[in-house]
Amino acid sequence: MFSIVDDDTLMKVAASLGNEEAVKIVEILKNSGEITDDQIANKTGIRLNTVRKILYNLYSHSLVSLRRTRDEKTGWFIFHWKLQPNQLEGFILSQKRRVLEKLVTRLEYEKNHDFYYCYTPGCKRIPFEDAVELVFRCPICNKPLVHYDNTKIIEILNQKIEQLRKELGE
Ligand SMILES: [Zn+2]
Repeated sequence: MFSIVDDDTLMKVAASLGNEEAVKIVEILKNSGEITDDQIANKTGIRLNTVRKILYNLYSHSLVSLRRTRDEKTGWFIFHWKLQPNQLEGFILSQKRRVLEKLVTRLEYEKNHDFYYCYTPGCKRIPFEDAVELVFRCPICNKPLVHYDNTKIIEILNQKIEQLRKELGE
């Protein structure tokens, strides 16, 4: 199963789910069969609550499985976690599809609008329709709004979309 998803991809998934802590936890899961949240907390030094939160997040994406047993001495539940590598590929694909959709929407927006800009760092580009109402004055810095050529942005978006479509086999 792991031949499909390489370590690099695995870590990217973990990073997309949260932070460095998520990456550490996935790393531990990857090198364990089944492991309890207590053990993960001990191995990583990450607080147990945080470990559990991240594990439940992974669980909600079906990236880990959960088995519950009861501690005979204390009567408390013990949670055993296991990575589900065969679910990862589906998860990665759906993530990529979501990104692709967003990029396509953004591309349409860029293509269908003519932008005006004051060229002050921190100010925003303004679509033509709004620029007219503002009489071509930036509402923030009051400088004149001039036409903004978004050809470069469209080009980059097109490249990214093409790349993702290739990866998705579309
Ligand atoms: Zn401005």
